Amino acid sequence: MSTNSPVWFITGCSTGLGRALAAAVLDRGRRVAVTARDPRTLTDLVTGREDRALALALDVTDTGQIAAAVKEAESAFGRIDVLVNNAGYGYLAAVEEGEDDEVRALFDTNVFGVVDMTRAVLPGMRTRRSGHIVNISSLGGLAAFGATGYYHATKFAVEGLSESLAAEVAPLGIKVTIVEPAAFRTNWSGPSMRQSRTTIDDYTDTAGARRTSTLATYGKQPGDPVRAASAIIDAVGSDEPPLRLLLGKTAFDIATARLDTLRTGFDAWRDVTLSADYPED
Ligand code: NAP
Repeated sequence: MSTNSPVWFITGCSTGLGRALAAAVLDRGRRVAVTARDPRTLTDLVTGREDRALALALDVTDTGQIAAAVKEAESAFGRIDVLVNNAGYGYLAAVEEGEDDEVRALFDTNVFGVVDMTRAVLPGMRTRRSGHIVNISSLGGLAAFGATGYYHATKFAVEGLSESLAAEVAPLGIKVTIVEPAAFRTNWSGPSMRQSRTTIDDYTDTAGARRTSTLATYGKQPGDPVRAASAIIDAVGSDEPPLRLLLGKTAFDIATARLDTLRTGFDAWRDVTLSADYPED
């Protein structure tokens, strides 16, 4: 494990965005701890680049595995410069249809996985007064739709956590970027998607319809994971990385429309809002 190139650590590299990002970062000569629940899925990514690519078993819901993987990466490469919290998945259910075990498992991966990984790399980054934490959120971390309420709840949680983190670690030389993709052509809306085991007829036209339309996007999503990987690498490498990086035209259109909707709603209720303070002396 020689060279002095930046060291990346990426979760969820078996498929999709994580895999495309790991491949692109390795293609650019960086050193990478490439991680997946089943490390056999990483063989082709690391073969022939063993001096720069370290394949590690990592389920982000397993704090013991997190500690072991971070330790192994830091001892192999000396440090972690960029952590990408990418591992995550979706769950289709109207809010009332949500099942406790599924919802808690979703939060364990999408939220607490991010929390635990972040806490594991921060001591090293603080010591070096440098580092970059990239959290793969979603357009669904900014705007919410039927059938994916619990997924949105996890990604809104990642957004809030990341914003606080950014404020806390900026003085320590550590950057935070929240990535917000729209629909990208990965397994997200296909094999990786989980769904509630039961449905309630009253939600057929709302959550039910969105369930169907979400699953129908599989294989036809406009977003290209390879281009997304390039965009993330460019953002990380820029002099002033963004706090938020939208990916895909739909992400831009929906996020900017959301800004307008928020503004319109706030303005409409402005007088009521202002009436809630104690009168000025
Ligand atoms: P994907 O192809 O399904 O990849 C998801 C990855 O996460 C897989 O490698 C999966 O590993 C891994 N993973 C799931 N649970 C894990 C756990 N507990 N520990 C470790 N790894 C775990 O979907 P993707 O689109 O690339 O998803 C990557 C990220 O992008 C997710 O956070 C997702 O929410 C977000 N995102 C995706 C889209 C989209 O349209 N594709 C849009 C917005 C945001 P296994 O193979 O072991 O299951």
